[in-house]
Amino acid sequence: MPSSQSPRTAVRRYSAALLLVTAASLLRLGLDPILVDKGPYLVFLPAAAAAAWYGGLGPGLLATLLGAIGALAFAVAPAFSIRPETRADWLALALFLIFGVFVSALTEKLHRTKRRALDAEASERRQRLLSQQTLAGIGDAVLSTDVVGRIEFMNAIAEQLTGWTMDDARGRPVRQVFQIANEYTGAPAGDPITRVLQEGIIAGLANHTVLIKRDGSRIPIDDSGAPIRDESGNLIGAVLVFRDIAERRRAEQERERLIRELSETRDIIRSVFRKAPVGLALCDLDLRFTRVNEALVEMTGLPMEAHIGKTIDELLPGLPAEVTEAMRQVRETGTPFHHESEGETPAAPGKRRTWDIHYYPIRVDDHIAGIGAVFQEITEKKAWEAELELANDNLKQFAYAASHDLQEPLRMITSYTQLLKKRYYDKLDSDGREFLDFVMDGANRMRTLLEALRDYWRASKDGEEPATVDCNAALETALGNLRASLAETGAVITHGDLPKVVAHEAPLVQIFQNLIGNALKYQSEAQPQVHISASGHGAQCVFSVRDNGIGIDKKQLPKLFGAFRRLHGSKYPGTGMGLALCRKIVERYGGKIWVDSESNKGSTFYFTLPLASGEAASAQQS
Ligand code: ADP
Repeated sequence: MPSSQSPRTAVRRYSAALLLVTAASLLRLGLDPILVDKGPYLVFLPAAAAAAWYGGLGPGLLATLLGAIGALAFAVAPAFSIRPETRADWLALALFLIFGVFVSALTEKLHRTKRRALDAEASERRQRLLSQQTLAGIGDAVLSTDVVGRIEFMNAIAEQLTGWTMDDARGRPVRQVFQIANEYTGAPAGDPITRVLQEGIIAGLANHTVLIKRDGSRIPIDDSGAPIRDESGNLIGAVLVFRDIAERRRAEQERERLIRELSETRDIIRSVFRKAPVGLALCDLDLRFTRVNEALVEMTGLPMEAHIGKTIDELLPGLPAEVTEAMRQVRETGTPFHHESEGETPAAPGKRRTWDIHYYPIRVDDHIAGIGAVFQEITEKKAWEAELELANDNLKQFAYAASHDLQEPLRMITSYTQLLKKRYYDKLDSDGREFLDFVMDGANRMRTLLEALRDYWRASKDGEEPATVDCNAALETALGNLRASLAETGAVITHGDLPKVVAHEAPLVQIFQNLIGNALKYQSEAQPQVHISASGHGAQCVFSVRDNGIGIDKKQLPKLFGAFRRLHGSKYPGTGMGLALCRKIVERYGGKIWVDSESNKGSTFYFTLPLASGEAASAQQS
């Protein structure tokens, strides 16, 4: 039986045939007194037809056969014989059999046709279900229309993207539900379904198309439409697949932005490289130039292309081998290197030139991919430095000689003014006496200034090598020298244990004496309190001299250590050379000096000196 119906098994169908024939036989027996020998096949005809109708060909034929036997046995004389006696009996039997076979064959054919129709219908239903479920479950939005472009189906994503529900959209023209426009102009865009239905081809959307949702909002989409055809190839509708490409568009825009940024950055880097005012070069691992900039080209005096692919010694044989060696070293160790190198280049034949060259490894991921080099020409700077040093030396000699040579005439002025005072003071009137005092004061002041100047220049004069000096002893000496001022001011001096440093004792005493002397001099009403301490910082020791005096205006601090700088005028005696001298001494040993102060808040002067070996750890803040 057909699979689409509740199954009629063969047993049921053949049993039904048997039952029908049995029933017909019983009926014939029951009707026998009425019918006698008339219409022997009368009841068997419907039974055979019913069996064929119910069971098809087999049961129909069986019922025909059994019906013929039943009729012969019960309805045709002689009774209970199945052999036809007369020609009429044979004819009736033949007609019955023909009828039975014909009806069975006919019903079988009908059954088959029906079965096929049912099978086809079921298959179509299955197919429809399958495609609807596939479309519903697909990741893209899908809608389909009939042949005139009316919506027949939309999956959930299509509902979501268009803002229409399937129920609302069903039967509406596709243009009403699927409205599209150009993203930039807003003009309505060609609808692919119409093209598909008109031309029967697969059609896609133009770029930059937005779908206008039911609420008016717009989303960029991408789509394609295809015709739906029946088995005979007739166009019966169209299907449209579309998707929201906002995310993809954003990613594309982001990628475009990054590419733009990258190319801008690349252009900037190129331009910086090309136009940098120092010579720049990139070399591969064979130390051959891969790129050079304009400044380097100018330095070498060779065209840019001549550099590429050459090593520096091939290109500039006038440079010493140490340059190539330095590059090799950077390539092997991965550590930047720096040196000054001298040589000759085709740009200035016969001229010795000096360069300050930095080499550094260029790393890509974790390995060295090349060597970078920065060339800065310092030929002129070197020449200036040499000139400056010479001028400085001359100046030193001149200042020292002047301060020394002026002492003699000054001594003469001093001794004769003293003589003048001794012999003629009483003979002068009050003006004369006042003038003489001024002359003597001026001479004294000049002597002090000349001495300070001489000390200043002496401070930087090369002499004995610096040695280990105990700062405690130097401080004691300085305090001894300041004994009178200490007594006069009643100052309280405190200090901790000081380390040993590498210096000369006399200049060290001078620093302490100048700084503590100033701390006593630039005092307010309060009792002077001065604290000296030291703390180690690596190989250097930082000393501090703190007072509670009048302090210094912050604006004045930067100028403080210049020669003849005086901030507080003639109210306090002095030459303005003390701090300049301190700076000169400290710098001679590679140290620094600075001050932290504010008006009326006291001052703290700091200076650094190199610690003697073994002192670093023990130098503590005291
Ligand atoms: P001076 O002989 O005038 O003391 P210095 O070179 O020793 O020359 O000092 C320069 C100036 O710095 C001083 O004139 C003073 O104005 C200021 N100064 C130095 N030390 C102190 C201090 N401890 N407190 C306030 N001002 C100071």
